[in-house]
Amino acid sequence: MEILQKQREFFLTQQTKAVSFRKKALKRLQKEIIAREDAICDAIYADFKKPKFETLAAETQFVLAELKLVLKCIDLWARPERKSATLMNWPSSDWIYKEPYGAVLIIAPWNYPFQLAIAPLIGAIAAGNTVVIKPSETTPKTSRLISEIITAVFPREHAAVVEGGVEVSQQLLAQKWDYIFFTGSTRVGQIVYESAAKHLTPVTLELGGKNPCIVDDTASIALAAKRIVWGKFLNAGQTCIASDYVLVHKKVKGQLIDALKKSIINSYGEDMEASPDYARTINQKHYSGLKSMLEGEEILFGGQSNEGDNYLSPTLVNEPKLDSKLMQGEIFGPILPIIAYDTEEDIERHIMNYGKPLATYVFSNNRKFQQKIIGTYSFGGGAINDTVIQITNKKLPFGGVGASGIGAYHGKTSFDIFSHQKAIIKKANWLDAPLRYAPYNLPMRFVKMIKHLF
Ligand code: NAD
Repeated sequence: MEILQKQREFFLTQQTKAVSFRKKALKRLQKEIIAREDAICDAIYADFKKPKFETLAAETQFVLAELKLVLKCIDLWARPERKSATLMNWPSSDWIYKEPYGAVLIIAPWNYPFQLAIAPLIGAIAAGNTVVIKPSETTPKTSRLISEIITAVFPREHAAVVEGGVEVSQQLLAQKWDYIFFTGSTRVGQIVYESAAKHLTPVTLELGGKNPCIVDDTASIALAAKRIVWGKFLNAGQTCIASDYVLVHKKVKGQLIDALKKSIINSYGEDMEASPDYARTINQKHYSGLKSMLEGEEILFGGQSNEGDNYLSPTLVNEPKLDSKLMQGEIFGPILPIIAYDTEEDIERHIMNYGKPLATYVFSNNRKFQQKIIGTYSFGGGAINDTVIQITNKKLPFGGVGASGIGAYHGKTSFDIFSHQKAIIKKANWLDAPLRYAPYNLPMRFVKMIKHLF
């Protein structure tokens, strides 16, 4: 593939190894994003009516914050890191060098089409790699704009965009990359992992999952409802870390449902279709899939739709069965199942029914219960008494575990994942203890004490 060849040749010129070179490129990117911030909002709006507020907060400003942090810290992060030496090698100085992998491939999804293409790019460029981005074909206007921005900022041999669908993605995956960063579904994540395995290429896989949101009988119900509604119906439920379903203690179920309805109306008004703050489902196919999940279910609230606009209102569903369409896999849309639990075994039965989710939320004023949920179950990350906010602190790694992904990124973690940690010991020449060399004359009782020297 011509672009990969070009990038490999460029990488070998060693130009990306200079931190000053990376910084200049990142500053150009920062300038371009600031200049085109409105155009980015317009493109995403044209793709699926994402409200401008949401694009600014969760896409452009999010990425600009990442850039600001990287530009501030890159000198420190890129510097070889000194580690204390061991007695075994005395006298020496011991280091970790941060080495770029080389040619990086980034494959992005459609739901946060700008952020999920550009945030990993920032880490990869900061660490000194070359990058090819394959944005999602599902948001064509945004993909086009991403391509224009990258072309304006980077020479092609440093970073480039290859637009296209599944076939293009597969052609790219057939090549030998030095690192692959994929965000998308668990199903496609498996395909990516298989392709990477052929070349022993390291990967980060940012995947999805069925995220539980647990509300116990001590929770502050009105506040919980507000925070659940915000995180769930943001981007019309098409957020990888949105609550997928609510498990609520049976004592407070009625109260929570009333509060959820109230919060939805407070957020989007009685005529939710007319709300400028509510996005659309991405396309006809996804819309139809969501509609079919509602068949035969008891709708507690919402359920209105408009096929012409892929509009589905915020919808609450009562007690879907575990084997229903709604509870088979990730919903990824504005439908929230409400399921009552009585005992902790009920909670376990639901959570353990799925692979490890990307997020889990617990609303409770009982510390023991909070810690029990956090400590018992495995999941990517989460929040106590809130939803989604774990993504907003750049000091926290963002990623899944098991079925929801491999690896994490954001902030320094992004720099680290795109860097190979090269261990180097610089040995002094003024002393050369003879003990390690053959013929081995050291008595065995001394050899058995070597553990103290590591
Ligand atoms: P997707 O897996 O269908 O597509 C993602 C990318 O993979 C696209 O660029 C697409 O062109 C490519 N692709 C699709 N099929 C392919 C195939 N057979 N071979 C090779 N490449 C292929 O995901 P999507 O529908 O764009 O996004 C939704 C999913 O992404 C949800 O499951 C969601 O939870 C997940 N997601 C995860 C995160 C995260 O940070 N963990 C963020 C956003 C979305």
